[in-house]
Amino acid sequence: MTVCKKVVLRFGAEIVDKPIIYSLIKEYGLIPNILKAEINPHKEGYLVMEVTGENEQYADGVEFLHSMGISVDALDQEVVWLKEKCTQCGLCTGLCPTQALIMNRPSMTVTFDGDKCIVCEMCLKSCPAKAVALNF
Ligand code: SF4
Ligand code: SF4
Repeated sequence: MTVCKKVVLRFGAEIVDKPIIYSLIKEYGLIPNILKAEINPHKEGYLVMEVTGENEQYADGVEFLHSMGISVDALDQEVVWLKEKCTQCGLCTGLCPTQALIMNRPSMTVTFDGDKCIVCEMCLKSCPAKAVALNF
């Protein structure tokens, strides 16, 4: 059975120069479609991508990624920002790795761009007003 999954990969700086996408294609027959990426040789990186392939190959590919120390999480949930609850404290904007939640200047108002969110849940853990939530 062919599957198409949207996943987020998170990895440490030591993985950045490894040919993981090449391996997924060549060794596991998967077709990755990269949607977002932040790869900084000095920091933790992430990739959001759709992966298409046979179920068994997908499972083997995920096992390979895990063996490399890469976390793989399915993006089957999304974060919603509850504007009416937000106190505009800005705490989450300093933690959000993708600038999905930002503090706009000079108005000093917080806005949320769901297309940039990788569901890392940092904002959920930090928001004192419970103004962000998971939508399954
Ligand atoms: S879950 Fe929150 S902190 Fe993480 S990327 Fe999405 S908006 Fe940013
Ligand atoms: S931490 Fe919560 S209350 Fe503060 S700006 Fe972010 S969403 Fe709004």
